[in-house]
Amino acid sequence: MKTYQLKLKHLIMGVAMAAFFFTSIGSVWSGYRMNVDSIKENTLETNRVYAQKLASTADGYLDEAFQLLGYSANQVSTNMNDEHALNQETERLRLQNQMFNSVVITNAKGLVLSVSPPSVEIKGEVLTSIGAKEALSKKKPFISKPYEAMTGRLIIFISHPIFSESNEYLGMVAGTIYLKEPNVFQTLLGEHYSKDGSYVYVVDSDGRVIYHQDPSRINDVVTKNKVVQAVMSGKSGVQLVENTKGVKMLAGYSAVPSTGWGVVAQKPLEVALAPSFDRVQEVIIKSVPLMAVSIIIVLWAAARIANPLQQLAILTEESLDKKDVEGLKSVSGWYFEAYSLKNVLIRSLSFLHGQVTFFKDQSTVDPLTGVTNRRTMDSVLAEWSASNVPHAFILLDLDHFKSVNDTYGHAVGDKVLQFLARHMESVAREGDICCRYGGEEFVMLLPKTTADEAAQVAEQLREILSTTESPCGKPVTLSAGIAVFPEMADSTEALIEAADSALYRAKQAGRNKNC
Ligand code: GH3
Ligand code: MG
Ligand code: MG
Repeated sequence: MKTYQLKLKHLIMGVAMAAFFFTSIGSVWSGYRMNVDSIKENTLETNRVYAQKLASTADGYLDEAFQLLGYSANQVSTNMNDEHALNQETERLRLQNQMFNSVVITNAKGLVLSVSPPSVEIKGEVLTSIGAKEALSKKKPFISKPYEAMTGRLIIFISHPIFSESNEYLGMVAGTIYLKEPNVFQTLLGEHYSKDGSYVYVVDSDGRVIYHQDPSRINDVVTKNKVVQAVMSGKSGVQLVENTKGVKMLAGYSAVPSTGWGVVAQKPLEVALAPSFDRVQEVIIKSVPLMAVSIIIVLWAAARIANPLQQLAILTEESLDKKDVEGLKSVSGWYFEAYSLKNVLIRSLSFLHGQVTFFKDQSTVDPLTGVTNRRTMDSVLAEWSASNVPHAFILLDLDHFKSVNDTYGHAVGDKVLQFLARHMESVAREGDICCRYGGEEFVMLLPKTTADEAAQVAEQLREILSTTESPCGKPVTLSAGIAVFPEMADSTEALIEAADSALYRAKQAGRNKNC
């Protein structure tokens, strides 16, 4: 038979635990996913709004810059030859608003008439840089692209033309922003830099970085970046992008309408999601006690459910060996199936044991007298001789039994046989076996018994019978033949033969004798 090691208890526990874990993991996971989605959405939206705000701040700033330059242009248009007045104006413009790193006034040919601060030693020189040339030729308010100035600095050049009252072009007032040095952008944007890796950068309409937290990135062309592409086309919005270092960023972007610049505010995805990881950890840690209690309850319940069935299984097997159902009765059938199963098992096993006992008795016991039958006698003898157990064999035969039957009838004869059987049992010692050999012949098997001891038992029986009234109304007598193994016979057949001969001699000697 195949041995099943898996137990119902473990199966129920396994299934319950699996359900428990999958449900827990599922709910934590879906909670986490929802959290992640909402964090992403919120961060993107926050960055978009922020970029938009910065873009409009920059727009306002440029607008103001033109107004200031325009005002100065108007102021100096009447005294372009007054060096002192020009110097005063450049100085005022630079210091008062802190917008420009330097301020210059040139004539119509680009000759520098005044510069602030004077440390920029270009006074008296003609500006030849692209930005200055473009401004001179356009004769309009103008913002240059970033370029390298005569001083070697990377700058943006913001200029306003100076016209005389008669509308003659006299030159320009220009402010510069040094892109790689402390400048107005840092005042506007730098303070928003946060230590968690979030940052803001600004690109011009060519996708060139004009402001970045990391100065080495300034002047880089980053048109490959999808966000930059979007912002260059004048859009504002949100996107998950990878920056040049391969870090995933949640970016919000917005265009600066007046210049075609774009502002991008972004936060590393990992940083944004970190609180979510922490939350999951926190949820898991906080739910540990509850989970432990739940697990204990689940395991306890599984054991409670499985125990009755497990006990029934074990005790049914025991019951088959022990042939009683007492163990099964102690099982608690606390729910319907266990209760029914227990009752059915008790009933069917009781019935089975009864039947087995009945058939076993039937096969070993003589139905009329209740003593062991011939078949059992044969197997006992075979076993004793095989294992060399010394034993005595008494063959008993009622004297003139035919006449008992003839005189009192067969039914009385049967009663006499039963009467004899009872007396055989009364003289039998512990371990002795009484058998019906056939008809009115009986046998007593006496293990570890000498011929003398056997003769004593036979004599005791003979005497009782010959002096006791039998069911026929008077005593009956018997004759007995005794043989012992192995002294008188070395096999069962020889033993029976010897006893039979002895019985024959007893009959010959006048009956009511033992030989
Ligand atoms: P002996 O002294 O020589 O033994 O004489 P006997 O009459 O006993 O002779 P025998 O052994 O030949 O007879 C046995 C008789 O036992 C024959 C039979 O009718 C009777 N008998 C055998 N079995 C039963 C039985 O089950 N019930 C009854 N009532 N009689 C039986
Ligand atoms: Mg006989
Ligand atoms: Mg007889």
